[in-house]
Amino acid sequence: MFNFPMLYEDELIYSVVARAGIRAGITSPKQLLNEVFGNRKVVSTFDLPNQLAYIRNLYQKRQYSTESLIYSHTLFSIYAPFIPEDRRAQCMTWMKKESQGSVHLAVGLNASRLPALNKVRYCPACFKIQSERLGEPYWSRLWQIQGANCCLKHGILVDSELDFRPSARHAYVSADFESNNAIVQLPASETDLFITNKVLELLKLPPCSSPSYEQWSLFYKNLALSANCNRGLSHINFDSILNKLLDRWSLSTLRQFNLHDLDADNSWLHSIFRKHRKSFSYLEHLIAIEAFIGRHWSFKEIITHVSGLNIKKEDEILKPSGKSPSDIQFQRNQWQNLLIEFQKSIKQARQKDGGLYAWLYRHDKTWLISYNRSHHSTHIANGIKHDWAKRDRLYVRQLLNIKNTLIWDLDSPRRSSNWWLNQAKTSSTVEKNLETLPLVSSFLARYSENVNDYQIRRLTRVYISRISQGISLSSWIILREAGLSEQRLTEEASRFHGSISHLIEKENWNFKYENNGLT
Ligand SMILES: [Zn+2]
Repeated sequence: MFNFPMLYEDELIYSVVARAGIRAGITSPKQLLNEVFGNRKVVSTFDLPNQLAYIRNLYQKRQYSTESLIYSHTLFSIYAPFIPEDRRAQCMTWMKKESQGSVHLAVGLNASRLPALNKVRYCPACFKIQSERLGEPYWSRLWQIQGANCCLKHGILVDSELDFRPSARHAYVSADFESNNAIVQLPASETDLFITNKVLELLKLPPCSSPSYEQWSLFYKNLALSANCNRGLSHINFDSILNKLLDRWSLSTLRQFNLHDLDADNSWLHSIFRKHRKSFSYLEHLIAIEAFIGRHWSFKEIITHVSGLNIKKEDEILKPSGKSPSDIQFQRNQWQNLLIEFQKSIKQARQKDGGLYAWLYRHDKTWLISYNRSHHSTHIANGIKHDWAKRDRLYVRQLLNIKNTLIWDLDSPRRSSNWWLNQAKTSSTVEKNLETLPLVSSFLARYSENVNDYQIRRLTRVYISRISQGISLSSWIILREAGLSEQRLTEEASRFHGSISHLIEKENWNFKYENNGLT
């Protein structure tokens, strides 16, 4: 087939084949299959198509590799990181050539708890933009993923007339027939936006090898340990895991994905925190990780971390280190308490007890890193009010002491808010949390110098020094010694300087000193 259309961004393979049919004016599905694949038995599939080597060969200049077709124009990316590496490679081979349903089976779709989409979905507003810009709408892969229910720009996706798993297994239907401008899109909920964003992260991941089941098992074990959802070293406390999950996700959201059945001993949640024997879906991973990592996280970061977990090392660390589990548990508790004391600042906790940190690093490194990673906060968490009140009093006392020792010191640099905080050696977090430190804030409001204050202090210093020495008080000498000039003086400082000069003239001090030969 000549002039096979170039793919649009995120366009599904299904969509480009349908567009090729329209362009070539082919109305018979079998004829289209023959033209594109040279084979009338190819089954049309939205999510995980095969025969991609044929598609690649339709482009004269070989613009695409089959790998890029798979990762940018099918839904393989949302499954790939969660199936073992050998299976990922096998799936790619199937997708290049023939699959006959094996790919769907191998990524776990057939056994998945997630309900399949009934209809192919679209965003009416995006359709409109596509039609205006490109002259035709197309099926985007962003719309065909369970859980990613919205367009990030325009709102909730809309069902088309087309079945996601159509009974006409050989037809390719273009997006063209679906342009109903009258549809009003519902706004997306926060949950829809969150999940859609996370799924987009997966779609954007470059091809890379997948972590093993053992690595995923270890990752979840560490996740449970770091959230204190364990009894002893190796037993997981499922009640606390369940509580954590339900703290983050409503049952109705879980029900929507058929992930709400959590009580049974063999629920997906129990299984994901046990030794992995099968793959879990992107939504199960997303929901579990989000409930346990109480901060911003990305799939890229998590998958890189899991791929780097060293299974052997973990065993070596726990067994031949010669440390008993109770020793390890004790030291872990100590570290957890220290992090609580220092409001999750790993740096401060390390400074306080470097020995403990070193011990854990030597004997329990995987846990330490995973715990720190999930508990480190770049900002101070709200809600520990009594600590802030205590800090507030402590810091303001330090500041007042400094101010009292400085009362006759006219030489220091400008006493800005920052300068005061540096003198008191407060941590950098104080500056960012002034609203929780009322005493420190009012001290700073009262004693911080602006540029006016600073220039006036410099002039005062020079005047006092020269008057006490009985030397010349000419205006330009004062300015030069204060490191100022007429041009740089602020209005207020200039008024101050003017009024002192006026006073000096009136009292004839200059004359007196100069006559005494003291200049
Ligand atoms: Zn849209």
